[in-house]
Amino acid sequence: MRSDLQLHFRLYNACFPVKGAEMGLICDVQRKEAFHIPNLLVEVLEKAYDHSVESIKGQFHHQYDEGIDAYLGELAKLGIGFFTSQPEAFPAMDLTWESPLEVYSAILEIESAGNYDVADVLRQLDRLGCAGLQLRFLRPFSTREIGDLLAPTKNSRLKFIELYIADNGEAAENLFRLAEGNRRIVSLVVHSSKMAGLVASEKPGEPLQVVFTDQVVGRGQPDVVRPEDFVASISIITEAMQFNIGLNRKISVDADGFIRNYVSHETGFGHVSGVKIQDVARSAGFQEKWLLHNDRIEKCRDCQYRYLCLSNSDIVEEDGKYYKKDTCRFDPYANIWR
Ligand code: SF4
Repeated sequence: MRSDLQLHFRLYNACFPVKGAEMGLICDVQRKEAFHIPNLLVEVLEKAYDHSVESIKGQFHHQYDEGIDAYLGELAKLGIGFFTSQPEAFPAMDLTWESPLEVYSAILEIESAGNYDVADVLRQLDRLGCAGLQLRFLRPFSTREIGDLLAPTKNSRLKFIELYIADNGEAAENLFRLAEGNRRIVSLVVHSSKMAGLVASEKPGEPLQVVFTDQVVGRGQPDVVRPEDFVASISIITEAMQFNIGLNRKISVDADGFIRNYVSHETGFGHVSGVKIQDVARSAGFQEKWLLHNDRIEKCRDCQYRYLCLSNSDIVEEDGKYYKKDTCRFDPYANIWR
């Protein structure tokens, strides 16, 4: 390493250090990877925005000089950062997050075609520019019935559709035909099935697979927080710094037709037959939880995964502090998944 007193260390713009209670993380959004690092190194990297390496060593009273050199050298080798004597040439990245979409995604539970007007809900979501849709069919519907319910999505602005379908006993080929007729379908899961595994299409070049699982998708099914679902992307990280990424700009309609922030949440915001989704989505009450991002929630604020975690748990307030109702398996104070 050069002995230049003015030598600075910069992380590449695609890399973000995050401090946890016990362990830190560098999220590399270009490689979509996260590297675990000691918290002390996160502190060094935070100081590195404004101070030279020698100045940082001095701030730690030269107790960690060797460790700082070794870690920064390793980060440079891994292509996560670099040394420079011209730090002003590498300003920090603008982390503002903006989206033109009023509603980004929606989850609809469908138990009976008569509980609410699915087609009307899909048309309303399209008018709001909704990009992603997850349909959870809680009891067996034939592929034909599912195709009919999906008809309004064909000329919509939707970019992707995920289907969770209770096993109807039909062959996977029927689902492949359904997806061929609606190219927005990117995910097909058959739940409550006697079989488990993946079925690929017999058509060459068809990337879509049908996932069969014996797990049951029921009413108000909460999502489980799993580290394998964390995605380090610039849009997720910057959104997570301002919003709750599990709930922000998301609409859920439960099996009975009530609008909620998420299907497992207690608070309802009216039935789709009586209120417009747009009015609910624009209301302060509905948006309240969009703003409760992980930095504002006890435990999550101390977790190194807080800008990657898509937990959509309900949030409760007690004595001016916010807590997630569905607690996850990660303990940031012991740095272990329980
Ligand atoms: S503690 Fe919070 S942010 Fe961390 S993994 Fe659990 S739910 Fe996600």
